[in-house]
Amino acid sequence: MINKLSDIVENKLCLGCGLCQSIAGKDKIKVTMTKKGSLEPRQINYINKKTFNKILSTCPGILIRGPKTNLKNNNFKEDLIWGKYLDLFYSYSKNPLIRYTSSTGGVLNAIAIYLLKSKQVDCIIHTAASKNRPMRNIFKISYTKKEIIDGTSSRYGPSPTLEKINDILNKNINFAYIGKPCDISAIKNLEKIDSRVKKNCKFLLSIVCGGIPSLTKSKEALKKNKIKEKDLSLFRYRGHGNPGDLTIETKNNKRFLEGYNEFWEDENNWQVLERCKICPDAIGESADIVALDVWPNAIPSGNDKGFNGIIVRTLKGKKLVNKLIKDNYLFKGKKFSCRDMDFFQPHQVNKKKSIYYRIQGIKSINKLVPKIYDLRIKKISKKNKKEFNKKEFLGAQKRFL
Ligand SMILES: Cc1cc2nc3c(=O)[nH]c(=O)nc-3n(C[C@H](O)[C@H](O)[C@H](O)COP(=O)(O)OP(=O)(O)OC[C@H]3O[C@@H](n4cnc5c(N)ncnc54)[C@H](O)[C@@H]3O)c2cc1C
Ligand code: SF4
Ligand code: SF4
Repeated sequence: MINKLSDIVENKLCLGCGLCQSIAGKDKIKVTMTKKGSLEPRQINYINKKTFNKILSTCPGILIRGPKTNLKNNNFKEDLIWGKYLDLFYSYSKNPLIRYTSSTGGVLNAIAIYLLKSKQVDCIIHTAASKNRPMRNIFKISYTKKEIIDGTSSRYGPSPTLEKINDILNKNINFAYIGKPCDISAIKNLEKIDSRVKKNCKFLLSIVCGGIPSLTKSKEALKKNKIKEKDLSLFRYRGHGNPGDLTIETKNNKRFLEGYNEFWEDENNWQVLERCKICPDAIGESADIVALDVWPNAIPSGNDKGFNGIIVRTLKGKKLVNKLIKDNYLFKGKKFSCRDMDFFQPHQVNKKKSIYYRIQGIKSINKLVPKIYDLRIKKISKKNKKEFNKKEFLGAQKRFL
């Protein structure tokens, strides 16, 4: 039972998205950066039962649902690991500048720009670097092409991705939302109790996500280069080539670069949230379109021109992507298979296989776990070796104690 907001945080289930703050209001819940480098909400005033129940039925930290798709219709395919999809292919933005500056090949930026230009939406809701504190992230509302690409390439740190979603819904404007799979889950949860979401949110676009690193990971880069955060003018993790170098610039025009592989090394070094380690959907199963990296074994072999993979998940997504290809916004490359995706994203395959037993491990020590529906995690775990499941069970027990 979750009786208060702090139960979510103390059980390590919070993602710092700010949805609860958006629902209750800033005078009741405030999300702030903690000393350990994550965003966490704090209740500062009384919240009535109705508001609290709304938070419980939408918070992506504690409730994740997969899509309910009728597979018999319209050529949907289903893979045990990768879920339901209509199409998988290589792609990138046909605009060389977008392709160069974006995180990978600029697929999501190209879609966002097209949606604005074709007036299908009034704005794009996504995430960007803060102008004043460029190592930190903000909830961004973009109305122009310039705004879409400004400081938005993959932000590997805590982000208040939903902290103003209620304000957007109050404005009654049409938007597309770009975010991580958990952000998309949150919007889908919200859609179930707030009819404005269905009316105004026209598209859900997702990245594939390896987890949110804490801000301390970024602070390491400052420390190493003897830079103070207040002196920063730019802090870019990705883009300007694929993946692009970690690029730090200061107000007095000093520049520091570090290669992607050198900075991130292996996954164990990412300092990601514990909640991310039990994420049942890091592959955007509820989105219309998902963009991903296609590096062999998830390791870039240097900076290249930018190549994305695309997972088309809905009919609406398919129609949109086809229009972008026809109108010369996106390049459509060769198709690939789910087994190719296993090769691009071995960490995602491993994670999907491990979730069910990780959750059982946490339950066994009487800690709270998220509610998970329609994401096949139990079925997937049945194919694992017993030793694998045991290791995941014990590992999660230790991490969530
Ligand atoms: C924390 C994190 C982990 C990732 N892990 C993986 C992974 O395991 N496998 C993989 O293939 N790709 C991963 N990526 C995504 C990858 O880096 C690319 O973003 C993705 O391939 C899309 O490329 P693009 O060129 O189409 O993106 P772009 O066209 O540059 O668009 C990126 C979009 O993502 C939004 N965005 C950026 N950072 C965040 C954030 N922190 N939260 C919410 N939205 C954000 C931006 O606002 C922008 O709209 C990760 C990204 C992040 C931020
Ligand atoms: S809504 Fe977001 S910020 Fe609030 S408790 Fe849930 S995950 Fe944390
Ligand atoms: S790993 Fe899952 S929970 Fe963590 S940020 Fe990514 S999508 Fe969200």
